[in-house]
Amino acid sequence: MAKESRGQRVEVRCIACCSLFKARTADLYRGWARSCSKACAARIREVKARKPEKYARMKRNFEDYIADAIILGEIDVKKKV
Ligand SMILES: [Zn+2]
Repeated sequence: MAKESRGQRVEVRCIACCSLFKARTADLYRGWARSCSKACAARIREVKARKPEKYARMKRNFEDYIADAIILGEIDVKKKV
């Protein structure tokens, strides 16, 4: 776990409220770090349960954003874990 405390941080947009927050790239690669707060995480879970299509769309937008960040060099893919 010691290794986990380091790691690059990037600014990403919360898929629930669209505000910017800092996420660790390691978490992004694992598919975590999609929301800025616990409240937004709860909102996302609710959308996922009630409106799966909407959730899929949100998730896709987020993944496109991450892909763009990788292309732009904002996320160092060499640090992929
Ligand atoms: Zn949020």
